[in-house]
Parts: sequence; C-alpha cells; structure tokens
Amino acid sequence: MPQPETRTDTATTGAPAAIDEPTRRALIEALAQAMFAHADELTALDQAIGDGDHGLNMKRGFEAALADVDGLAAKPLPDGLKAMGMTLVMKVGGASGPLYGTLFMTLGKALPVEPDRANLVAAFGAAIDAVKARGKSDFGQKTMLDVLGPVHEALAEGSDPKAAADNAAEATIPMLATRGRASFLGERSIGHMDPGARSSALMVAAIADVLEQG
Ligand code: ADP
Ligand code: MG
Repeated sequence: MPQPETRTDTATTGAPAAIDEPTRRALIEALAQAMFAHADELTALDQAIGDGDHGLNMKRGFEAALADVDGLAAKPLPDGLKAMGMTLVMKVGGASGPLYGTLFMTLGKALPVEPDRANLVAAFGAAIDAVKARGKSDFGQKTMLDVLGPVHEALAEGSDPKAAADNAAEATIPMLATRGRASFLGERSIGHMDPGARSSALMVAAIADVLEQG
C-alpha cells in the first residue's frame, strides 16, 4: 500500500489542503457529474442566445476526461491540468472548448505541485488573461469571463467563490453580448443568462464542494 500523501490542515493554516491523487480524481468526477447533470440546462441557455450545443459540448468533453480519470488523476497537479486542458480543446469543440482548454492548460503551467492560496490566486489570474487573449475578449461582454473574473476576486480576498460565481452568472442576464455567438443577436441577447457563464459557475461549485470536503 502506498503511503497517503501528507495533507495540510486548512483550518489552522488557511492554506488549501494538498490536492492529492484521490482529490484529483474526485475533482474530475465532480466536474463531469456537474456537466452531465446540467447538460440540458446549458443547452437550453445556448438555445436562447446561441446555437444550442453548449450542454452537449461540455458533456462530450467531460465524458472524455472521465474516460481517462485514472491517467489524469495519477499525474501531478500541473501535468493533470495540462492534460485535462488538451482533452477539453480536442473534445468540447465550439468556442468554449479552446477557451476552457486554455484555462486549464494555463492553470497547469502556472501552478506548482503543491499550491498555496497565493499560488492559486496568481495562477487563476494568469489563466483568465490567457482566456482573454485567446478569445480576444474582456470582462463585461457577457461571457464565461464575467464569472471567472469575480471568482478570481473572491479567491484573492478570501470570500466564498461559489457565491461569487452564482451571483456573477445571474448578473450576465441583463448584459448585452458583444463577443461570441450571442453577440450576433445584439439587443436580443439581453434577458438571458450566458451559457458559458453558467457552465463556469457550475465548475466552480463542483471544485469548491470537493475542496471544502478535503
Ligand atoms: P459556440 O458559441 O461556438 O457554440 P459553446 O456554445 O460551447 O460554443 O460556448 C458558448 C460560450 O462560450 C458562450 O456562452 C461564452 O460564455 C463563451 N464564449 C464564446 N466566445 C467567447 C470569447 N470570445 N471569449 C470568452 N468567452 C467566449
Ligand atoms: Mg453554442
């Protein structure tokens, strides 16, 4: 039996617990389950202001990740994140595949094997910048970035990332889309939640639930 990896006590140090192999497995499984459970909802959101494939895109990507959960979880965190990003680029497709792929790959490049909170904040900032560069997009355009930005702020100030993500996804409803497919609708994009904002919030919640249990 291999010795379990040492875990840091979150309560006493304020640092995240070590993201060991069982945790990495739980994270992949939780992300996949969140996408499977909400695929219809994401599709309905994308039917309103896009082409109706976001739920299916995310489901396909995370089916592929789940099929390789042993291999992905066995890798050290940075390598696992990079491999996960590659999988999402190859399998999700659409606009969101390369963007989520970039997010995970950049996290993998930026994070050390055992990250502390400051590492997480810095890496998430770098990942957001990479998504912006890839998408030629910025905050305020009614995209996934409008959830990722507030989540980054919450992480930096030590507030609840899940609540930040949910509120931020809700806050995309009155926004006018100026990037992505929804921007083709102009004013008609107003009044609907952005599908990528919702999938981002679901992923943040899935990750937070696993790490809070750790
Ligand atoms: P597609 O739009 O190609 O059908 P998806 O439906 O899978 O791809 O994903 C749509 C989501 O991708 C949008 O709701 C939005 O959040 C995000 N998105 C699209 N374009 C961009 C962009 N340029 N920058 C950031 N996010 C984007
Ligand atoms: Mg779509």
